[in-house]
Amino acid sequence: MADLAKRRLFSRGQTIALVELPWRDKSVSFTDVCTRCGECVSACETQIIVKGDGGFPTLDFNQGEGECSFCQQCAAVCPEPLFDLSQPEPWQLKAQIKDTCLANQKVYCRSCGEHCDSQAISFKPGISSVPIITAADCSGCGACLSVCPVQAIVLGQPK
Ligand code: SF4
Ligand code: SF4
Ligand code: SF4
Repeated sequence: MADLAKRRLFSRGQTIALVELPWRDKSVSFTDVCTRCGECVSACETQIIVKGDGGFPTLDFNQGEGECSFCQQCAAVCPEPLFDLSQPEPWQLKAQIKDTCLANQKVYCRSCGEHCDSQAISFKPGISSVPIITAADCSGCGACLSVCPVQAIVLGQPK
């Protein structure tokens, strides 16, 4: 079976879903090993893990608290060898701003910056300047995704 857990971002209307879990062991084919038991769905403290395509766990940043707290509960409760908590980072994903950001239309927003606890989002001086992500400061928590009114932020591999 194809490894559906390869990074894949998609948007279904208001859904911001990511077929990925933190600390996933990339050497293991997720869909071959995951039994779809749902233990991680129940354990997620911010309630962002849902059953997605084929019943496999998927992150939906429009659910629950809309961000990953990196509590490690998903990895801790999973009965299968799908996670590697010895990795220095839960994942390499960083927030990225798409061209549809309202600032490109000279509309004032800054909602993303107001919700980033890591202060990884800054704005050039000016009323409607485009947000800038400082990748080194971004944990990839996803808190900025669901608060964007036009879904102009995604999590992706750094370019
Ligand atoms: S680390 Fe915690 S908050 Fe993040 S997806 Fe896993 S269970 Fe949910
Ligand atoms: S707990 Fe593990 S095996 Fe069960 S659905 Fe989640 S990732 Fe798959
Ligand atoms: S993903 Fe989290 S840390 Fe990164 S810019 Fe968004 S809110 Fe800030």
